Parts: sequence; structure tokens; C-alpha cells
Amino acid sequence: RPLIGVLALQGDVREHLAALTESGADATAVRRPEELGKVDGLVLPGGESTTMSRLLEIFDLLEPLRERLAAGMPAYGSCAGMILLASEILDTRPDARHLGGIDMTVRRNAFGRQVDSFETDLDFAGIAGEPVRAVFIRAPWVERVGDDVEVLARVPHGDDTDADAAGRIVAVRQGAVVATSFHPEVTGDRRVHELFVDIVRES
Ligand code: GLN
Repeated sequence: RPLIGVLALQGDVREHLAALTESGADATAVRRPEELGKVDGLVLPGGESTTMSRLLEIFDLLEPLRERLAAGMPAYGSCAGMILLASEILDTRPDARHLGGIDMTVRRNAFGRQVDSFETDLDFAGIAGEPVRAVFIRAPWVERVGDDVEVLARVPHGDDTDADAAGRIVAVRQGAVVATSFHPEVTGDRRVHELFVDIVRES
């Protein structure tokens, strides 16, 4: 079983530890650089991205985490975790940090003006069978992706213009790094975590 860490500075850590264990990995909380050094992959949970970014600096994890991502460590970020993995963040605080694990521009709290939270069923590339039930909580969306980024899922949105009629991008992958705007750890459907555990196993 691969050893997968969950960044445990803030946010819904316990749910991801449980989901990873149920998906065939050994799971452990990561708060220190030494703990980060031991894991084969890392989950960045939902929570509050500006708080998490500040805690990454306080706990001396920001640079070690950037280095491990640059060296190819698999990572999965959900919601605030997606925001942290971006190469550019819109609508955040000026001092918010990002990790640049995926070449993408993410807008924080993007769905927020109309609806804070909602659920929907999504087609998710690479996950066969039933659609994935997606829970969005003050969620970001992805406004730009680089050429090497694969779009895995979109959600229709009221403001869609012709240019993005297919819907807002809410799940992406670049190499061994995956991000979703939504929270698969709260539904009991383990297929997104299983996909990530497979990526960790293969790399
Ligand atoms: N809105 C939060 C942020 O900006 C993310 C919400 C979440 O992770 N559920 O970090």
C-alpha cells in the first residue's frame, strides 16, 4: 500500500484520511517537513486557502512542498487545496501563497455570489459508470488551464457565455497532480480517491 499524507494544518483532514484508507492506501497526517519527506503522495484538503497558505509558511512547509511538487510528487487538492495548487489565484488576499503544482488560474469563491454551496452530478473523465456526486462549498473554479493540463470535469453555469458553454472547469489533472473544486470526501463515493491512489501507485 502506498503511504499518502494529508496536509493537516487546517480543514477536513479526518475525512480524507478515512477516504484514503478505504481506497487502498495507508494514510497519515502531515504537519512537519520530516513527515512530508516520508509520503509517496499528498492530499491538500478543503478549508480556507488563505489561512492554509499562512500556516504553510509558519510550519516551514511552503518551500519543501514546492520542491517535492517540482520533483514530481503526486498530489490531490480539493477546494482550498485546488486553490493552493494553482499557478495563479484570482480574488484572494495579496499575501496568499500558491504552490504552482498545476499550470492553471483559479478563481476563489467563484460560485459564491449566487450560491454558497450546492450539489450536482458530474461526468468525470476516467471514472466510468454512475456520474460523480459533487458537493461544492464556497468553491473555486478554474478559469485558465495550460496546454499540459487535462480537464476532467465541468459544471454548467448560469453566466456561461458561448466561449465556455460546456460549463466551468471543476476538475483537472497535470501529470501526477489532480485538483477538484468539490469535496468527494463527504459523499462516501471513493472513486476520486481511488483514482488518486492509482496515480500514486503508478508513479
Ligand atoms: N472558499 C475557501 C477558500 O477560499 C475554500 C472552501 C473550501 O475549501 N470548501 O479557501
